Amino acid sequence: MKPLNTLLSALPTTIFTQMSALAREYDAINLGQGFPDTEGPAELVEIACAALRDGRNQYAPLTGLPELREAVAGCNQRFYGLSVDPNREVIVTSGATEALAACISAVTSPGDEVIVLEPAYDTYLPFLRLVGAVPVPVRLSPPDWSLPREALSAAFNERTKAILLNSPMNPCGKVFTTEELEFIAGLVRKYDSFAICDEVYEHLVFDAPHIPLMTLPDMRERCMRIGSAGKSFSFTGWKIGYITAPSPLAEVIAKAHQNLTFATAPNLQRAVAAGLNKGEAFFGELAEGLCERRDLLAAGLRKCGFGVLPCNGTYFITADISGLADEEDDLSFCRRVTIEAGVTMIPVSAFCDPSAGTPPTRYVRFAFCKQPAVLSEAIRRLEAYFH
Ligand code: PMP
Ligand code: GLN
Repeated sequence: MKPLNTLLSALPTTIFTQMSALAREYDAINLGQGFPDTEGPAELVEIACAALRDGRNQYAPLTGLPELREAVAGCNQRFYGLSVDPNREVIVTSGATEALAACISAVTSPGDEVIVLEPAYDTYLPFLRLVGAVPVPVRLSPPDWSLPREALSAAFNERTKAILLNSPMNPCGKVFTTEELEFIAGLVRKYDSFAICDEVYEHLVFDAPHIPLMTLPDMRERCMRIGSAGKSFSFTGWKIGYITAPSPLAEVIAKAHQNLTFATAPNLQRAVAAGLNKGEAFFGELAEGLCERRDLLAAGLRKCGFGVLPCNGTYFITADISGLADEEDDLSFCRRVTIEAGVTMIPVSAFCDPSAGTPPTRYVRFAFCKQPAVLSEAIRRLEAYFH
């Protein structure tokens, strides 16, 4: 038989699936894959169910239900002061994953370079390569994950079509500061490029505000901003994403969406529209609850001997394993601790491409979007194991 797609054939199964399978096999507490262990708002589930019974079961409009596009535009205004046309500047997708694929497809032609800040969510590089774009990874380094300005400047050139920016950033819990965003915006402007902004964790910020790159001067016309109902409403299985982009970009992104999935489940769109129309208090409480759990886990990890790195947003906290493992690398550490201590996490090296230099091997990522009792039990197991 002729070979299948060489890139996909060579790709391993995602680290999240691998580690979740290992957690199940060894009955470990899964602080690996990032999903909450409690349900999102019950009234949104009711709205989704009612919409199914209501005959909302045929194709939704290509760019999304009007009520959801209006709600997305409303949130842009309410949270960031961005004035957005719901009819021409919003596209609803089947998760942020599809939104990323649609934006990348819309912006790049084969051979175009796209700068990716690492550690990077694991779907960025494979998808860029799949469409023939050339990823140019620029690595942030622990323990402070600050923006490597020189390396970033050096990476930009005339072939740079876009930068893919994830803030708040998975896996390192970093929220980019205004100064860092201004620096990035300067380069985007200088090289006449675009920014694909993965902002799925926009509402999960703790000590620092989330600032969309799109709100900076001259960035409105160059940015695509991606959100996800999975993260904002704790329904990661729903896979509803939304893109905000200026209309000339949105038009082409819609063509990508048309050829990827065409439309997205209408009942879930209806529920997410209601969710986005919730008041600020809802999003504030979501972040507060997560912040408490971050603190609980961070304190526990310190007691066990992990070096805990700063975390201002997302579901994730990263930790240095140097005090607990001599020569062992992060992947082997994660496997050993899953099997022997019954707690699962994700190796940070999985977010780094060797083309950007040797990946760091002394850091692991823990998800704290779990019930306090579950986090406490995980800490208890780790303490018992390491002491
Ligand atoms: N981007 C990042 C940084 C993520 O962590 C995730 C989480 N899965 C996604 C995109 C994908 O989001 P969705 O589940 O809405 O496709
Ligand atoms: N975004 C989630 C994480 O980083 C996982 C999503 C997935 O399993 N593909 O853990």
